[in-house]
Amino acid sequence: MIMIKTPEEIAKMRVAGQAVAEILELLRTAISPGISTLALNAIAEEECKKRSAIPVFKNYPHSREGGKPFPAAICTSINEEVVHGIPGERSLQEGDIISIDFGLILNGYAGDAAITVPVGEVSKEALRLIKYTEKALFKGIHEARIGNKLGQVSHAIQKYAEEHGFSVVREFVGHGIGRKMHEAPLVPNYGRVNQGPYLKEGMTIAIEPMLNLGARNVFTKADDWTVVTKDGKLSAHFEHSIAITARGPEIFTLS
Ligand code: MG
Repeated sequence: MIMIKTPEEIAKMRVAGQAVAEILELLRTAISPGISTLALNAIAEEECKKRSAIPVFKNYPHSREGGKPFPAAICTSINEEVVHGIPGERSLQEGDIISIDFGLILNGYAGDAAITVPVGEVSKEALRLIKYTEKALFKGIHEARIGNKLGQVSHAIQKYAEEHGFSVVREFVGHGIGRKMHEAPLVPNYGRVNQGPYLKEGMTIAIEPMLNLGARNVFTKADDWTVVTKDGKLSAHFEHSIAITARGPEIFTLS
């Protein structure tokens, strides 16, 4: 069931979303050659503590029975890693791109967002991938309006991505968000305009396209979490949590 939020709930989600945006901006600033992904995670955990926010990714249960829960507050996915990379000792190198996905719960409501950031100087094709992944997200957000179907959001993302020569990951999708990080409905980044539920005032969703430089195919590594491209080519990921309002889409996690 898709939960419709009251204006009071929307106000709380705005606060949670702003905390996510602030922390992601701190992480963006900290990204430079030499820093480890574990050090980035420590910043996120510290910032949650300061705000009495719960980092929701930490100990998030695995969807596969017997799979181990996610061990950190942020997902750090470098280069060919698509999503769900686990922070560790690995240090960022000049020329890498890193996506950071981060969610928290503050005063009972969730916020969730992701950014992809170049580490120092990166290739032209890497920069182009980052730029168009973020633009594809905004193409989707633009369609998140009362009276549109969810498929219009999905289709806009896919169309824009493919028109610019990128492929769209299908195995992982966006989601409703509210009291929990993951609620109904699923928000695919591909599809047809006439698919999915009609969007209504008070729906809150996280839209999160993952675009690949090569083919769309991905697999999950032996650590149970890290998703990588099959062809080893670069992938980028952007996400915002938004509300459908009478004035159009409101982005909670815009910095
Ligand atoms: Mg999400």
